[in-house]
Amino acid sequence: MDYELVIIGAGVVGLAVAARAARSCRSVLVLERHQDICRETSSRHSEVVHAGLYYPQSSLKAKTCVAGRELLYARCKRLNIEAPRIGKYIVALNLAQERQLHDLAERGANNGVDDLSMLSSSELRINLPGVAATAALWSPSTGVVDSHQYAASFQSEAEANGATFAFRTELIGAEPIEGGYQLLTRNSGAGDNPTPFPLRCHQVVNSGGLGQDRISQLIGINIDAAGYRNHPCKGDYFRIAPRHQHRSGPLIYPVGKAAGAGLGVHICYDTAGGMRLGPDASYISGPPFDYRVDASKRRAFFAAASPLLPWLKEEDLSPDQSGIRPKLSAPGGGFCDFVIKDEAERGLSGWITLAGIESPGLTSAAAIAEEVAALLEV
Ligand SMILES: Cc1cc2nc3c(=O)[nH]c(=O)nc-3n(C[C@H](O)[C@H](O)[C@H](O)COP(=O)(O)OP(=O)(O)OC[C@H]3O[C@@H](n4cnc5c(N)ncnc54)[C@H](O)[C@@H]3O)c2cc1C
Repeated sequence: MDYELVIIGAGVVGLAVAARAARSCRSVLVLERHQDICRETSSRHSEVVHAGLYYPQSSLKAKTCVAGRELLYARCKRLNIEAPRIGKYIVALNLAQERQLHDLAERGANNGVDDLSMLSSSELRINLPGVAATAALWSPSTGVVDSHQYAASFQSEAEANGATFAFRTELIGAEPIEGGYQLLTRNSGAGDNPTPFPLRCHQVVNSGGLGQDRISQLIGINIDAAGYRNHPCKGDYFRIAPRHQHRSGPLIYPVGKAAGAGLGVHICYDTAGGMRLGPDASYISGPPFDYRVDASKRRAFFAAASPLLPWLKEEDLSPDQSGIRPKLSAPGGGFCDFVIKDEAERGLSGWITLAGIESPGLTSAAAIAEEVAALLEV
C-alpha cells in the first residue's frame, strides 16, 4: 500500500480529519482538486460558531455542534486564533414566533446548550433598541471565528505529524482491492487529458463536500438508494456599508425561518468587524455552480433585515459572496442529519462517507474528526 489513509477534500472537515488521523496513522495523504485548502464551501460561509440549539436531540448535528464548538474555542485559545464569543440574539416579532422561540430554547436545553436565557422586556429595550421584538433568546456561547486560520491550523498540525497534501489532484476513479482501495487521480491543473495516476491505500475518507456524491458513485455506491445525492442550495450575502461598523455587536437572527432550508437572513460579522446580511436559501442546479450574487435581491434582503436593524437603509447593501450547501434533503424535504459512516455493510470496509456536511459543519469539524477517528480506529 502507498498510504494507510487517503482523505479526499481539503475543506475544514477533511483538514480536521487529517490532523486527528495523522497523530497515530503512519501515512496520511489528502487529495484536493484546487490549488489550496478551503476553496469551496469552507471559505463561503458566515464564520459563526453555533451553540447547537437548532438540531433535533441526539442527532449528529446536535452532538457534533455542541462538542465541536468547545473543541474549536479551546483550540483557538491555545493557538491564538481569533474566536470571540460575541453571543447571539434570536428575535421573535410576534406571538407565533414567540412560541417558536420557546420551542427553540427547550430544544437547545435538551441538546446540552445550558446557558440560554430569555430577555426581559427592559433588557429587550436596552439591548435591541428600536427593534419591534416581542421576545428574544440570548445565546452567550455563540461566536465568530477566523475560519481560515482555524482550518490552516489543522493543515499545519497534519503536516507536522507527517501527512502529505496533494493539491490540484482530483479523484477520478476508485475500486476495492485486497486489503483496501485503488484510487485513480489526475492533475486538475494539467489541461483536458492529463495522465491518470493510480495509488493504493488501506482506508479512505470521502470528505468531498459538494463533490461527495460524485465520489460515492466512483466507488459504486447507488447515491439515490443510500440517500447521498447532494441537493445544492445556494445562500447569497449582501455587505453592509462600512460606515455602520461601529454598530458591530452580538449576532442577530430571526426565529421565523428556523425550520426552513436556512436559518433566515441574519446579520453576521467577520472577525475584522465587517458586517454582512445573509445567507438566504435557494435550490440550484449544478455542478458546475454559479457563485455570482443576484444584485436584484437587494430589496428582499433589506425587507428581511430591516425589522431587526432599524437603522439600516436599502442603499447600505451591496452584493457580497455566496456559498452552496451540500444538502441531502430535496426542496420541501425535512431535516437530514450529517452522515458519518463506514460503508462496511456495502462491502466497502474502511471507506468512510461524510455526506450532507452543511451548517454547522464549520463548528462541528473537530468533533466530526473524532467520530471519524473512532470509525477508523486511529
Ligand atoms: C452559506 C453557508 C453558510 C454557512 N455558515 C456556517 C456557519 O456560520 N457556521 C458553521 O458552523 N457552518 C456553516 N456552514 C457550513 C460549513 O461551511 C460547511 O459545513 C463546511 O465548510 C464543510 O466543510 P467540508 O470540508 O465538508 O467541505 P468543503 O469545504 O466543500 O470541502 C470539500 C473539498 O473537497 C474537494 N473535492 C471534492 N471532490 C473532489 C475530488 N473528486 N477530488 C479531489 N478533491 C475534491 C473540494 O474541492 C473541496 O475543497 C455554512 C455553509 C454555507 C453554504
